Amino acid sequence: MAAPTQPQKTTYDAIVIGAGIQGSFTAYHLAQRNRDTLLLEQFILPHSRGSSHGQSRIIRSVYPQEYYSRMMPDCFRLWQQLEAEVGTHLYRQTGLVVLGPAGDPELEGCRRSLGDGQVLDAAALARHFPGFRLQAGEVAVLDSTAGVLFADRALRAVQEVFRRHGGTVRDGEKVLRIEPGAVVTVTTTGGVYQAPQLIITAGAWTGPLVESLGLRLPLQPLRIDVCYWREKEPKSANTGSVSPCFLTLGLSQAPHGIYGLPALEYPGMVKVCHHHGSRTDPDKRDQDPSGADRPDIGLLSSFISSYLPGLETQPAVRETCLYTNTPDEDFILDRHPKFSNIIIGAGFSGHGFKLAPVVGKLLCELSLGEKPSYNMAPFSITRFPDVLQAAL
Ligand SMILES: Cc1cc2nc3c(=O)[nH]c(=O)nc-3n(C[C@H](O)[C@H](O)[C@H](O)COP(=O)(O)OP(=O)(O)OC[C@H]3O[C@@H](n4cnc5c(N)ncnc54)[C@H](O)[C@@H]3O)c2cc1C
Repeated sequence: MAAPTQPQKTTYDAIVIGAGIQGSFTAYHLAQRNRDTLLLEQFILPHSRGSSHGQSRIIRSVYPQEYYSRMMPDCFRLWQQLEAEVGTHLYRQTGLVVLGPAGDPELEGCRRSLGDGQVLDAAALARHFPGFRLQAGEVAVLDSTAGVLFADRALRAVQEVFRRHGGTVRDGEKVLRIEPGAVVTVTTTGGVYQAPQLIITAGAWTGPLVESLGLRLPLQPLRIDVCYWREKEPKSANTGSVSPCFLTLGLSQAPHGIYGLPALEYPGMVKVCHHHGSRTDPDKRDQDPSGADRPDIGLLSSFISSYLPGLETQPAVRETCLYTNTPDEDFILDRHPKFSNIIIGAGFSGHGFKLAPVVGKLLCELSLGEKPSYNMAPFSITRFPDVLQAAL
């Protein structure tokens, strides 16, 4: 005779919606603080439909904005703690160069964010990293702390530690309805759950979800081409273990926001992408109405011809990912203006992975009613006008 099934548990201290890197780290911190936490995910895990999949993400200390650079030591420490908890390497130090015109104010901000970062001119950069070719008047700021996070592995690790601390993950359950109150009720495709605290970290799906709570947030999902470019000759672009990540500020022959990572996930292929995408509906991400080549590919090809001549100029592999951008590209980490036990983490604008350990900590602190560890003003919901709809 089959054993009787346990009735499904329905009440928790906290519910987190969305098991991407931000929701998973929030749940991890809550569980470490002994909160009985439910992490809900619409798709069966692991999946590649959101923003946290793939094998690599850049982590760096350098940031033009001080409010992010101040968080980075804590981020590095928490990533190391997670590595120790799971006994797996999640990070590889490669260094990173920020490429820009000499004297550029944003480049200066980057240099200052490193204390007194090392500046390399074209000749010095070519000596250190022969794959790069800068144009006259351009320089590189070196962040030697930077490197690559193994993203898929990291996401699995956070969820594993969350479970070890007694957390519950329910995947394949889409949240359909949220009823606010002193105890929030969440209805999914699989059940009805209640908790006094709700944290929404639903990535590109956050906009419609919070609209049902009377909030209209300026969140724009973007489809991003993730391109890998083959070395003309193995290691010709100096993509071995010493090759750094890079990102560009406005260069003479390339726009702001091109970034790259050394050949790690696919042998002999360097990841070079543009921090820019086309508007999309996250449920229709891969529908390409024209079938035509994307303008970003042409732009990246031309960048590679000028600055990374050791790579072929057509991508060998193309994958897809989603950004969810705010107008100022700063995150939203705040309470719902009307329902203070509903916390929202959204709008990570293509740079949230490295910061996820601290984002999770801040969202956890907000939900526990504690004073957050960092100044939250840059991340407030009310920096945007008219977010609260009149109906509620
Ligand atoms: C190509 C690319 C390169 C990037 N490079 C970097 C980098 O180098 N460095 C860096 O720091 N950051 C980088 N980022 C950004 C970083 O990956 C994202 O900021 C981060 O992954 C966002 O995580 P998230 O948890 O907010 O979103 P997601 O990972 O999308 O998670 C949200 C989850 O919520 C779930 N969900 C949504 N609605 C519901 C619902 N109704 N019910 C249940 N579940 C729901 C979704 O299915 C999803 O799993 C990059 C992003 C991309 C796309």
